[in-house]
Amino acid sequence: MKPATQLVRIEQQSQCAPIRVFVARTQWTPDDAMAFVGHPPLIRPGTPDTPVLISVTFTWHKRRAELLRQEWADHYKSVSIGGPAYDGGRGGEFTPGLFLKTGCTITSRGCIKECGWCVERNNPLQELSIKPGWIIQDSNLLACSEKHIRAVFEMLREQKRNIFFNGGLDKHFLKEWHRPLFDSIPIGELWFACDRAVDLPWLERAAKILDGIPLRKRRCYTMIGYDEETPLEAEKRIERVFELGFMPFCQLYQPDETKVYPDEWRKVRRKWSRPAAYMSAGEIVNQNPHQVAMQF
Ligand code: SF4
Repeated sequence: MKPATQLVRIEQQSQCAPIRVFVARTQWTPDDAMAFVGHPPLIRPGTPDTPVLISVTFTWHKRRAELLRQEWADHYKSVSIGGPAYDGGRGGEFTPGLFLKTGCTITSRGCIKECGWCVERNNPLQELSIKPGWIIQDSNLLACSEKHIRAVFEMLREQKRNIFFNGGLDKHFLKEWHRPLFDSIPIGELWFACDRAVDLPWLERAAKILDGIPLRKRRCYTMIGYDEETPLEAEKRIERVFELGFMPFCQLYQPDETKVYPDEWRKVRRKWSRPAAYMSAGEIVNQNPHQVAMQF
């Protein structure tokens, strides 16, 4: 494998529309004619001079990405490889539709906190120019300046769509003055995180600020397996998140080297990552950020 220093930041560097290649498909993977997942197709787009940019999100996909680089390099002269798995998410200015599906936008990168499990801990918070979108993927939008946050909401009000905050809203930075901003847009989903029991009082405080916003719009990432908890303690934390009026979404902590969890951990994840497993049928409303238009 090439050392990281030989990898380039993948940005559009020529006038020719690049081919973008992704190691695995997610709900955010672009689906236009120049976006591909995995191997080169039999009928290949562009010419040998068309640049190919391979985007890698997770470090455990690096090996596969290197193999893909060799395959694409059999047909194209310029094949670059990069993305969050290589640059830790530092990125640069955001280009809508290039590496994330149309609708997604990133208005800031990095974070001011240093959570041990998160790649953003090494990236200083940086406010970017605001590009339109209705799915906010910033890692910590609420840590940005008030001026930036207000400008983001100005952009969001122009979208005429339900707005999804999938990047995550930090309960530590949620303030009373944010509430009128949320009330000024059609909310799709607000995503918070509660990864440790010490976060619960902060989520309780957030629940008060968000009072009146329905459960189906209040979501919460709940990572398990990071450090001090037993599966039983982790499940108690998640139950409390649910009691506070947030729909939990449970994920197992995954370090760079793949960690295999015993069944008792996987059972907790299975239950609390599927609303169908912890809610009654009438309560479940799954919204699709790519299809939901503004609802009056
Ligand atoms: S607050 Fe969120 S984005 Fe910032 S370091 Fe912690 S987990 Fe990462």
